[in-house]
Amino acid sequence: MVDQSQETAPSRPLLGITTTIPVEVALAAGFEPVDLNNRFIGDPHPAGLVAQAEELGLPATLCAWIKGIYAWCLRHPEVATIVGVTQGDCSNTHALMELLTLAGRRVLAFEYPHGRSAADLARHLAGLASALGTSLEAAEKVRRDLLPPRRGLARLDELTWRTGQVSGGENHLWLVSASDFEGDPLAFHARLGTFLREAGQRPSRTDGPRLGLLGVPPIMSGLHETLEQMGAAVVFNEVPRQFAMLPPPEGDDASLVAQYLRYTYPYDVFHRLADIERQVRLRRLDGLIHYTQTFCFRQMQDLALRSRLSLPMLTLEGDRVAPVDGRTRLRLEAFLEVLS
Ligand code: SF4
Repeated sequence: MVDQSQETAPSRPLLGITTTIPVEVALAAGFEPVDLNNRFIGDPHPAGLVAQAEELGLPATLCAWIKGIYAWCLRHPEVATIVGVTQGDCSNTHALMELLTLAGRRVLAFEYPHGRSAADLARHLAGLASALGTSLEAAEKVRRDLLPPRRGLARLDELTWRTGQVSGGENHLWLVSASDFEGDPLAFHARLGTFLREAGQRPSRTDGPRLGLLGVPPIMSGLHETLEQMGAAVVFNEVPRQFAMLPPPEGDDASLVAQYLRYTYPYDVFHRLADIERQVRLRRLDGLIHYTQTFCFRQMQDLALRSRLSLPMLTLEGDRVAPVDGRTRLRLEAFLEVLS
């Protein structure tokens, strides 16, 4: 994640993104992508941002991620252009985009087609490229340039589930950071190389129950670390792994359309389920934790996950930016006891 104390004046225009978009297009257009989720949660006072949004009038009964992103954007007018994903991410994004337009930002929309049609996705990619002032050919070149860091992240993921040399928490942070490559893919790749060399020297760790963490990134802090202290290992971070677009083992994607059709998060739950079922087998998982965010429509998908996945599953709900609380600890302990 970005260390905000190290930030310097941007040399390229900043492009805020409300979730993972085809970042190759933003980079081809000369923007520095800024994942607003990562900036909000990486802010020194994320809870203060949520409180500020509520003071401004956003309801208590609204997802805290949306409130945090909104308040962060108000404090950062240098992020003058924002791409919101209006199909395939969050039902609250439409109203968020309206509020950011009122706040003077240039707001663009991108859609992942609900039917997962390649032709529609190609059309939406071309529309985004045109709106940002670039071409799909230029974005395809960036896609090829991003393969080395994406392969590095695939290696990092393997060091989590094969050897345990990278912890579940580290895995989560690196994978979610790939949504915008922290604004600079070259520097990101260099840092990743250093990290991989260091992690490769660590001893293997393959004991304890092996867990998969499903669902949107937890807003509570310390979940991975708490599980680790209890002797378990998170060896599958479902959605962060999707954000990182790891090249498949059978070979690289042939195009942006192929890559963003393979991405499961923005389409229906059945593609997510197929991916989860594959990873459960591959990573030999013992149990699943489904994290859901209070007031998020995706909470309803808990039913689908429970009806299709046969592994023991604990559903955890988080609302505020805060460390793992006592009640959650007790639930985690009880769940791990069941697994053992
Ligand atoms: S957690 Fe759900 S409601 Fe909140 S921003 Fe993400 S998709 Fe939207």
